[in-house]
Amino acid sequence: MKSVFGPVSSWRFGRSLGVDPLCQNICSFDCVYCQIGPTLNKTIQKGTFIDIDRIREDLKRFLPEINSDVVTISGYGEPTLAKNLDEIIEAIRELTDLPLAILTNSSTLSLGKMRRTLMDLDVIVTKLDAHDDSLFKEINRPIRGLHVGDIIKGIKKFRNSFEGRLELQTMFIEKNKDYADELAKIAMEIQPDKVYINTPLRHSLETPLSEDQIYEIEGYFEGLDTFSVYKSKKYELYKEELKRRSIQR
Ligand code: SF4
Repeated sequence: MKSVFGPVSSWRFGRSLGVDPLCQNICSFDCVYCQIGPTLNKTIQKGTFIDIDRIREDLKRFLPEINSDVVTISGYGEPTLAKNLDEIIEAIRELTDLPLAILTNSSTLSLGKMRRTLMDLDVIVTKLDAHDDSLFKEINRPIRGLHVGDIIKGIKKFRNSFEGRLELQTMFIEKNKDYADELAKIAMEIQPDKVYINTPLRHSLETPLSEDQIYEIEGYFEGLDTFSVYKSKKYELYKEELKRRSIQR
């Protein structure tokens, strides 16, 4: 598996060149809607999963060939579990002037060292699907010892010192659709630059909420800059996929 992939058409960033510091399914969560599938290695322990020299080589090979708008650190799990994340960020910065983003489940943002590592990025997309531990356990099924209150505090601390764009994404499914008000209040306190209102349109064990349900949810976030998945290209692809499936039936 390559540590550099893409470009993928991202509903958030345009054409994105992905850097995967894990190349295997490792995450501190096991979200019920995860499109990768059940987490194979649920942990909060950091490790070096891909050697920095290999990432550097993959970047050197793919960067000149691929026309992208942004480099995004993401992949098969939670990228902040990579012990060599600071070296990876440094290598990307050395090799390209493209903006650098990361997609994180926010589970390590309660750690001051991690917040310092992420300071050098241009965009950080954080995740928050639950306002309390009971819903957090039901949706994100985190490794024992993680508490959503600590994660929220971590995101707020990061917001207060980070000079880049901090964005927040929430996946709405049946289990949390009635808590949009509570989640919106927390989002108001965080004051992200953008809020992505998501529902699993791609392959997932969870059924997506309807367009009307998502628009109703978006209403709770009034005053913040929101973007719903139903306004994205992903929705156009989803509609095409549904059409294809109905023709094949
Ligand atoms: S945080 Fe992301 S990668 Fe981890 S289980 Fe949830 S959806 Fe999957």
